[in-house]
Amino acid sequence: MTRTVTILGATGSVGRAAADVIASAPGRFSVQAVTARRDAGGLAAMAMSLNAQRAVLAEAERYQALKDALAGTGIEVAAGPEAVEQAAALPADITIAAIVGLAGLRPLMRAMEQGRTVAIANKEPLVAAGPLVLAAARRHNTTILPLDSEHNGVFQVFDKKGLERITLTASGGPFWGWSAKKMANATPEEALAHPKWRMGAKISVDSATMANKALEVMEAYHLFGLPAHKIDVLIHPQSVVHGMAEYADGSVLAHMGPNDMRTPIAHALAWPDRMPTPGRRLCLRDFTNLEFFPPDHARFPALQRGYEALAAGPAACVAFNAANEVAVGAFLAGRIPFSEIIRCIDRGLEAAPTGPVDTLDAIEALDATARKAVEETL
Ligand code: MG
Repeated sequence: MTRTVTILGATGSVGRAAADVIASAPGRFSVQAVTARRDAGGLAAMAMSLNAQRAVLAEAERYQALKDALAGTGIEVAAGPEAVEQAAALPADITIAAIVGLAGLRPLMRAMEQGRTVAIANKEPLVAAGPLVLAAARRHNTTILPLDSEHNGVFQVFDKKGLERITLTASGGPFWGWSAKKMANATPEEALAHPKWRMGAKISVDSATMANKALEVMEAYHLFGLPAHKIDVLIHPQSVVHGMAEYADGSVLAHMGPNDMRTPIAHALAWPDRMPTPGRRLCLRDFTNLEFFPPDHARFPALQRGYEALAAGPAACVAFNAANEVAVGAFLAGRIPFSEIIRCIDRGLEAAPTGPVDTLDAIEALDATARKAVEETL
């Protein structure tokens, strides 16, 4: 039976990989809507190749460019943040949530109200609004499938019975072999040169600081309902093992796969079945060794800060995410050196109030406060 799919954040690396998987299986999926922030040409091309019903840009001023690009195709066109939320609210069997940053939160919530399954690659909404997202899933009987490769890996070996801990692996990013001194003045180009994954700019910088792994620990905390001390991180430069689950009897189940997002995407798109993908395959004979190291908190303090934010509560997680988004943007724009990113995170955490953050409005207000606190110091 044909599955209807919506892709939120369709022109990013995950969105494009999802489009590739969908296009490789003609007749299996029918695309309801594709959305993007501002890339009219990229979105139009994708909407046509996937024969999508609707294409939507978040930036309202890009409406005409998208309309021109899709003239005569019969594909519905809209633009603006509300239009993205409306597209997310169209009924779909599965929604791929792959918007970058907290901007994905409201569309995700709308998708959860309607869709039967959401596959989440966009970790920031879970980090900042995990309890709200999970409550909405329970209320609407929505299935959440993790698309983040580590979480998707853990999901595939996860069983609550006798579970002692899970492990998320990290490649170590482009600076794993670098000294703190060398890292302090790393350029955006160097930070974007990830050794194992081809990804968007935000997540590539997050991998370089390891803030990405901090966000992933928070994400796992919500997705798997585990306390922080049961969520481990290991540096694994070969990126063959993506996630592990350790059980009471000593068994450790590890998920292995290629460094190719098309594998977790295909897993989610076909779940609970399996489907082939046009992606790379893992060939273990290509590896002479698989290494695992504990994280180096001295050179990569952002990971430890993530655990601290989790211990401090939901407001600190919102602030961590907001401060990090601002800092990464400033670093990519050449406004601050690499070493300043962690100091921005610290300033965001200091500005975070304590107390509940239990509505979307409260989360967005707190997010704005943390962003402002960091921006003022740049
Ligand atoms: Mg990941």
